[in-house]
Amino acid sequence: MDKRTFLKITGAAGTGVLLAPWLGCADGSKGAKETGLWGAEAFELPPLGFATDALAPSLDQATMEIHHGKHHAGYVRKLNAALAGRSKGAGGSLVQLLQEVNPEDAAIRNNGGGHFNHSLYWEVLRPGGPALPEGNLAQLIDRDLGGVELFAEAFAAAGAKQFGSGWAWLFINQDGALEVSSTPNQDNPLMTSCVERSGTPILGMDVWEHAYYLQYQNRRKDYIQAFLSMVNWASVSARLEDAAGQVK
Ligand code: MN
Repeated sequence: MDKRTFLKITGAAGTGVLLAPWLGCADGSKGAKETGLWGAEAFELPPLGFATDALAPSLDQATMEIHHGKHHAGYVRKLNAALAGRSKGAGGSLVQLLQEVNPEDAAIRNNGGGHFNHSLYWEVLRPGGPALPEGNLAQLIDRDLGGVELFAEAFAAAGAKQFGSGWAWLFINQDGALEVSSTPNQDNPLMTSCVERSGTPILGMDVWEHAYYLQYQNRRKDYIQAFLSMVNWASVSARLEDAAGQVK
């Protein structure tokens, strides 16, 4: 199922409120002005969107099963447990929750980040799409990052140099330009108060050992090269289009 179909099915197309349907809470149909309390099942584990063996041999089936079915599911469960009974504020979306997260609120920072980051990760790993960035995305990569080769170098280096667990990002920064960064743990560029460089992520690469260790062991750089060869650039372009108003 492509993103357009997904948006149509979930009724989120054209709302402009959410980056993607899985970012909303389960009762998001109540609208952006809804206030009240988070429910005990506010967020749900999104489907992987493809077979767990679809990325083999670049990324093995056991890793995908555990990563989606155990790790990501755990972030969703702990996020819901942490949110239950708390005030939703004005928005009720995961994006807003992360943009406003207090750095000391570890339960939301870690598990909300974990839910957002992995949802993005499955989306950009979905098999299909062009092998290289196209259209507006390619033009912006040329404009802001010196072309796709320099981007790939910078992105791979960001992932390789992230000490311990974390993520590498391609994101739209506060100046409206594309930028590459890395963050520790489950932080991401949405978390304005937690990260040095903030903005809207459109591509994320998990460099936690659980993302690659069964197959690649300590060879993180090999996993990174495999990841870059698997990116669904149509998914990244769709993210860019969703956030097009932020580009300057
Ligand atoms: Mn992970």
